Amino acid sequence: MLRYLHTTPPAPGAVVEIAPDVLWLRMPLPFALDHINLWLLRDTDGYVLVDCGYGDKATRELWERHFLTTLRDLPITRILVTHHHPDHLGNADWLMQRFACPLSMTATEFLIAHAIFHSGVPFTALATIPLFRAHGIDTEQLKTFATQTNLYRAGVPSMPMRYHRINKDIEPTLDIDTNPWEIITGYGHAPEHVSFYSPTSHVLISGDMLLPKISTHVSVWAFEPESDPLTYFFASLEMLAALPENTLVLPSHGLPFYGIGERIKQLREHHEERFNDLRAILRSSPHPLSAAEIYPLLFRRDLDTYQRFFAISETIAHLNHLWLSNDAMRHVESNSVIRFSLTE
Ligand SMILES: [Zn+2]
Repeated sequence: MLRYLHTTPPAPGAVVEIAPDVLWLRMPLPFALDHINLWLLRDTDGYVLVDCGYGDKATRELWERHFLTTLRDLPITRILVTHHHPDHLGNADWLMQRFACPLSMTATEFLIAHAIFHSGVPFTALATIPLFRAHGIDTEQLKTFATQTNLYRAGVPSMPMRYHRINKDIEPTLDIDTNPWEIITGYGHAPEHVSFYSPTSHVLISGDMLLPKISTHVSVWAFEPESDPLTYFFASLEMLAALPENTLVLPSHGLPFYGIGERIKQLREHHEERFNDLRAILRSSPHPLSAAEIYPLLFRRDLDTYQRFFAISETIAHLNHLWLSNDAMRHVESNSVIRFSLTE
């Protein structure tokens, strides 16, 4: 059982001091996942902010309230961003301009953010079309994904032009006020996500790597079609599993919780179940199956376009993992549709 410190999140515009010198803010998101948690860490002469919220009007209006109430006349002295997703990076440039403060993130996340923002060809929605086609998705469905619009820019209206690099091998801890925060790199959800752990107060700002209710999204992208992001994700869970059991986890979505070991166990079981389902589907078929044939059997509910996109890419991630663990064979036929069968 996970134990929650608060059963309700802070109201819009309000804050909760969730740990000593750590303030919890909640911002809205215009998706099915309708919120993100942000964290303000008390610094010597202001606050260090972890993640920025989606760069839209609703979030900026709430930020304006926080400037007057939560921050009063204190500045944001530094911005830390866990990874490039728009709900985390969205307002970074806007806040940097307002407070003339630096932004710190990993090089990989900064570079991929720019690649997506500037519509670098492998990083566009259109680049996914050949990947999905290769996995058997039909033309009708492909059409629903073929948008020319850069959706990333809806949440990241302007992009930071410079940053400070976070690199745990060179600088394993960041000092905020007098407190050291250890950097824990995480893979599988984003290329080089960081979480921050305070060994003095046993607080983990987990970002999207560890969430209490939903499982972290792990999928295959067009620019890395033969990757096995789940192996990376499981290795990252190992690193987080080394943290003490009395760690308070501050996730980007959901409520802060105790029970880090239990949550990691649940996530491993969740993926193991998915692998078992996949094996059963492959076993019951007289011929190899494509991701297009498999994903409706794994996700047995109505999916909107957005959810379908993630269901397909997550199915490919699970199939690639079975294939690269020698649990499944991958068949590329002459019509170039990729199909999988269980290894005998
Ligand atoms: Zn994310």
